[in-house]
Amino acid sequence: MANMAPHKVPMPEQQPDVRNHNFLEVATGYTEEMAVEEAARCLHCKNQPCVAGCPVNVHIPAFIEKVANRDFAGAYQEIALTNSLPAVCGRVCPQETQCEGRCVRGIKGEPVGIGRLERFVADWQLAYGEDKVEKPAPNGHRVAVVGAGPAGLTCAGDLAKMGYTVTVYEAFHAAGGVLIYGIPEFRLPKSIVAKEVGKLEQMGVEIRPNMVIGRVDSVDELFEQGYEAVFIGSGAGLPSFMHIEGEDLLGVYSANEYLTRINLMKAYQKGYDTPIAKSHAVAVVGGGNVAMDAARCAKRMGAETVYIVYRRSMEELPARAEEVHHAKEEGIVFKLLNNPVRITGDQDGRVTGMECVEMELGEPDESGRRRPIVKEGSNFFLPVDTVIMAIGTSPNPLIRSTTTGLEANRRGCLVADERGATTKPGVFAGGDAVTGAATVILAMGAGKTAAEAIDAYIRSKE
Ligand code: FAD
Ligand code: SF4
Ligand code: SF4
Repeated sequence: MANMAPHKVPMPEQQPDVRNHNFLEVATGYTEEMAVEEAARCLHCKNQPCVAGCPVNVHIPAFIEKVANRDFAGAYQEIALTNSLPAVCGRVCPQETQCEGRCVRGIKGEPVGIGRLERFVADWQLAYGEDKVEKPAPNGHRVAVVGAGPAGLTCAGDLAKMGYTVTVYEAFHAAGGVLIYGIPEFRLPKSIVAKEVGKLEQMGVEIRPNMVIGRVDSVDELFEQGYEAVFIGSGAGLPSFMHIEGEDLLGVYSANEYLTRINLMKAYQKGYDTPIAKSHAVAVVGGGNVAMDAARCAKRMGAETVYIVYRRSMEELPARAEEVHHAKEEGIVFKLLNNPVRITGDQDGRVTGMECVEMELGEPDESGRRRPIVKEGSNFFLPVDTVIMAIGTSPNPLIRSTTTGLEANRRGCLVADERGATTKPGVFAGGDAVTGAATVILAMGAGKTAAEAIDAYIRSKE
C-alpha cells in the first residue's frame, strides 16, 4: 500500500540559530525508518516521468522499491549503474527542476523525496556497504584529464573501468573542483568527496595536484608525452565583476575567492591561518547558489548582518528553493530589486559601504526574465565593510590560449559536439568548460559521454 501522505517525510536539520554558528552539515539525513516511510510514497508509475527528469537517468522507481523493501545495498547497486557520485547528487542536485520536478506525486502535494532517498542510500553504503574496488586490467592506452571536478573525475573513473591508464592534472592541491572549493562543508561534507576520489585512486587513476595545464605543461605537450587523448574539464572558475567604482577596495571579494579561502583553505577552522576579512556587515551581490553559499558562510564566519543584494525579485532568483529557504531561516536579509552602483571606502582603502539604486521590472529580455530598470532618484547607502561579488563566472582562457586548434565561443566556452569532441582531434571537453556555469550532474553526464567518445576514438585508431 502506497503512503498517500501529501508531504515528504521531513528531513532532520540543525536548528537555524545553532547551525548559523557552525560549519556542520545542515541536514542530518534520514534514518532507516524515515527512508522506508518516504519510499512508500512512490507510485511506481509505468512511464517513469522522474527518470526522464534526471540527466543521468537514475533508475528511480527501481531503487526506491528496494529502499521500501529494506534492501539498501541493492538500492545502491541500482543507483550506481548510472550515477557514480550519488552521495553528492543526493545533496546538491537541483531536484525541484530535475527528477522531483517530474514526479506525479508533485501534482497534488510534494513530490517523492528522490534526492533525500538517494542521499540516504549512498550514506548507508558509505557506512555499512562493501567497499571493495576492483582495479581493472590495463588495456595499454593512456589518457590525460585536465581538471579534477565532477566532469573530469567522472570521465577518469569511466575510462579507468574500461582499462585505460588515466592521469588527472589538477591546478589546486586537492581534487574535487567546485565540490571542495566552492560548495561549503555545511552542504556537502568534504569527507564524502575525499571518499569518492579515494575510490578512483584505488581503481588506478593517478591524480597529479598543483599542475596548472597551460603553465606547467600545455595540452600539446601532453600528447608529446604519449597520451592518446585529452579530456578538458577545467570548469568555469573565472569570476565576473560589475566594473563599478570601488571594486578594487580592500574588503571586496569575488565569491570564488571568498569561498575558496573558507572551504579549500579552511579559514573557518582553528589551526589554519588563511587570511579572511573579519566582517561585521556583508553585502553579497547576486542571487544564485553561489551567492547563497557566500552569504551563509559570511554569517558563520561571524558577520552580524549579511545582505543578499539582487536586482530582480524573489520570483526570478535563480538559487535552489531549499538554499533560499535555509538562508532566510539563518537570518540572511534579502534586499531584492536593489543594485549597487558604487562601493565606497575610507582613506586606508577599506570598504565602508555600497551606494545602491532601487529597480523595477520591465518587459522580458532575451533570457525570458523581466528586465530590471533603475528607479530614477532612488539611490540609497548600505553601510557594509565587506562586499562579495557573486554575479557569475566564465571559463579561464588559459587552456584555450595555450592549445593549438582549440576553438571557443563568444562566452569563452570551448566548442564541443554532443559527444564532447572539440575542434582539435583527440581533445574532448565537458562540464562548465563547455556549457558555462551549470550543475554537478550535467558536468558528470558530460564526463560520462566523453569517456565513451574517447574510447571509440582510441579504438578507431587501433
Ligand atoms: P569544476 O567543478 O569547476 O572543476 C574544474 C577543475 O579544473 C577545478 O578543480 C579546477 O581547479 C581545475 N582546473 C581549472 N583550470 C585548470 C588548469 N589549467 N589545469 C589543471 N586544472 C585546472 N551545482 C549543483 O548541481 N548544485 C549546487 O548546489 C551547486 N552549488 C554551487 C555552489 C558554488 C559556490 C559553485 C561555484 C557552483 C555550484 N554548482 C552547483 C555548480 C557546479 O558545482 C558546477 O557546475 C560543477 O562543479 C562543474 O563541474 P566541472 O567538473 O565542469 O568543473
Ligand atoms: Fe535526481 Fe540528481 Fe539523483 Fe538524478 S542524480 S535522480 S537528478 S538527485
Ligand atoms: Fe515514483 Fe514519482 Fe517516479 Fe512516479 S514519478 S515512479 S511516484 S518517483
